[in-house]
Amino acid sequence: MSPREIEITANLDRVRQRIMDACFACGRDPSEVTLVGVAKTRPAEDIIAAVWAGLEDVGENYAQEMVTKAMAVQQAGLRPRWHFLGGLQTNKVKMVIPWAGAIHSVDRPSLICEIQKRADPNRPVDIFVEVNIGGEPSKSGAAVADTQNLCSTALSADGMRLVGLMAIPPVEDDPQSARPWFAALRRLREELAQRLTPLPGRLHHLSMGMSGDFEAAIAEGATVVRVGTAIFGART
Ligand SMILES: *Cc1c(COP(=O)(O)O)cnc(C)c1O
Repeated sequence: MSPREIEITANLDRVRQRIMDACFACGRDPSEVTLVGVAKTRPAEDIIAAVWAGLEDVGENYAQEMVTKAMAVQQAGLRPRWHFLGGLQTNKVKMVIPWAGAIHSVDRPSLICEIQKRADPNRPVDIFVEVNIGGEPSKSGAAVADTQNLCSTALSADGMRLVGLMAIPPVEDDPQSARPWFAALRRLREELAQRLTPLPGRLHHLSMGMSGDFEAAIAEGATVVRVGTAIFGART
């Protein structure tokens, strides 16, 4: 293995161990938490190294970058599940759909329409409604007040399965300060699941927690954590 491959493998092992410790600390089963390795700005070789080391889910933020890297990783004979995490322009849906197993950034009705139009009904894409949980004007994500309508639209749309909610809480200096935001997303999901009575397997997931705060997110019920820096190092 190259030094870079050794580094990524060791980082991934450490993150996995931290996820297990966080689960045990709050009495959760580690198999309930999916690790998405966020590879934006990183070369395809880094992803290949991480997949060899056992990473099954890869996150990307930019449409063209995801497609280019997904093709390179496929060329290497590997097939991780691709998660699209970034702001998604409607005209990029067509590019993302053939590769994405999941889209975490669905925040408006026009995006649901476009996904419905472009998706293969025989291979529905998992979607998360992204919620601007801190109500920050500068941030992406649906307003909390609009979330129910958006979820209800997504639940009845073809070509997709609304699997849960995603949020990036306001930046705090210490990870424990993010906990109330994670708790707010958990409660919102519970409320919506009660009101909308989705089919089994729908609206079940909470995509929350990044390198700096995934332990706090797990303590509040995260089922998907999106971790970049702690696996691939600081982005340049
Ligand atoms: C970049 C990014 C992450 C990962 O952030 P790190 O702090 O590097 O772990 C997670 N989620 C989203 C939406 C991102 O854009």
